[in-house]
Amino acid sequence: MHGKLNILIVSSEMYPYAKVGGLGDVVSSLPATLKKFGHDVRVVIPRYGSIDIEKSAASVRLESMGVWMGNMEEWCAVFETKSPADVPVYMIEHTHYFDREGLYHDNAMNDYDDNPRRFAFFTRAALQLCKDIGFKPDIVHANDWQTALAPAYLKVWHWNDPVLGGAASLLTIHNVAYQGIYSKEHYDYIGLGWQNFNPEALETYGQVNFLKGGIHFADVVTAVSPTFSKEITSAHGGFGLAPYLSNKGENLMGILNGIDYETWDPSKDPNLPAHFSSKNMKGKRDCKAHLQKSFDLNVDENVALIGAIGRFVDQKGFNLIAEAIEGILNDMHVQFVILGSGESGLQEYFGNLPVRYSGRAGSYIGFDAQRAHLIEAGCDFFLMPSLFEPCGLNQMYSMRYGTLPVVRATGGLEDTVLQYNEATGEGTGFKFSEPNAWALYYTVGLAVATYYDRPAHIKKMKKMAMSMDFSWEKSANKYVEAYNKAIAHKRITDKHSRYYW
Ligand code: ADP
Repeated sequence: MHGKLNILIVSSEMYPYAKVGGLGDVVSSLPATLKKFGHDVRVVIPRYGSIDIEKSAASVRLESMGVWMGNMEEWCAVFETKSPADVPVYMIEHTHYFDREGLYHDNAMNDYDDNPRRFAFFTRAALQLCKDIGFKPDIVHANDWQTALAPAYLKVWHWNDPVLGGAASLLTIHNVAYQGIYSKEHYDYIGLGWQNFNPEALETYGQVNFLKGGIHFADVVTAVSPTFSKEITSAHGGFGLAPYLSNKGENLMGILNGIDYETWDPSKDPNLPAHFSSKNMKGKRDCKAHLQKSFDLNVDENVALIGAIGRFVDQKGFNLIAEAIEGILNDMHVQFVILGSGESGLQEYFGNLPVRYSGRAGSYIGFDAQRAHLIEAGCDFFLMPSLFEPCGLNQMYSMRYGTLPVVRATGGLEDTVLQYNEATGEGTGFKFSEPNAWALYYTVGLAVATYYDRPAHIKKMKKMAMSMDFSWEKSANKYVEAYNKAIAHKRITDKHSRYYW
């Protein structure tokens, strides 16, 4: 048994204060679970202009805190609040850097030019805060490129500091496509020493690369699923970082995200017209009928209903769905519901589909959480043909709601979905490998044939899917293991006095 840890999580997002994607959800659920385990876990985020201090019940913790950057001192204030799960949350306020319309870019989707300075400053401020309030972390947990420099600052600046000198570091990669690569003109400000500006540590072809630096300096790196962690070390993976990730050896680990069991529970989900569980599935039939009605589909309990939800971007494979869907509608007895938004061509295509396949295809273009819950509950199958998928949440939601996922076997999709076994009727979904419309078409074909020809198998699969454990408890335990591994790794490297200044 390991003891209780002091854990500092540094992140650019945390639900419900600031969220753009899955990172915000993880940084909300993981600390809540770690706190339940008894650890002293605290989170630091920027105080963005969009965060309502009053609504967040935050109060001033430090009126002014000095933060040394490489070539100047910055000043900021710090707010403190408690998350809904009672986790202390600190918000670093620097109005020039964070009082803006977006987190990373303006409304026209242009990245802010000073992002390297904004997030280098934020990361250093998060560490400085520990010194100013006397919080002595055993582990500093950084997330994605925005805070990836935390391990570097610890090793370069704070190695013999009485508060921070004992802290090991862990970096989680939620998406390796965004690395934070910027002109070296910012490097003096970032302040990590020109001796560390080399291709092994912080440099990529003459530019500074935040994520690469984090990978180099972190004691342990985690990726958000075991298969994703393998993919990013393979020859063509990792968006250029594969060799550096491979170098981490066993200090690179894959840990699946959990899902929020409170929000996604078919036995009490307030977004549904009826409730159900693996013991009593009647409510799922009512959800199906309600879903069909609300999307103007023919109400029919016995037709295979297939759903898809997500961002209309390349990564999510909606182009493959668009290529295959009419073949499927023409050749198979099925219905589709599509919910999503993104690329305009895809919005137009899926927006018009119900006109051309009246009663058999329904769509809603936009973001709508309630519809998302209804689709997960009312469908028989959930389609997710992602080209790559670090972890993915929707496939886990759908299994919990007894809706069988049809997915491409990549990243977290490969790890969470168990392939259908025609001989035994076991499995939780249907997987294919090739990223093309034919593979998608044939795999939907297998799912639909199973639905009509082997209903006992479908019933068995639904039960199995609903009994899978995607709870945060399981994932948070793995993070604790990873934290302890990082602490052990730091002890060993400290003995060899690997200091960087
Ligand atoms: P990613 O984080 O890459 O977008 P995930 O599957 O990990 O993909 O998570 C997507 C989350 O966003 C899920 O909770 C999903 O239900 C939700 N979502 C995506 N698009 C929509 C939409 N148009 N309406 C409602 N919810 C959506």
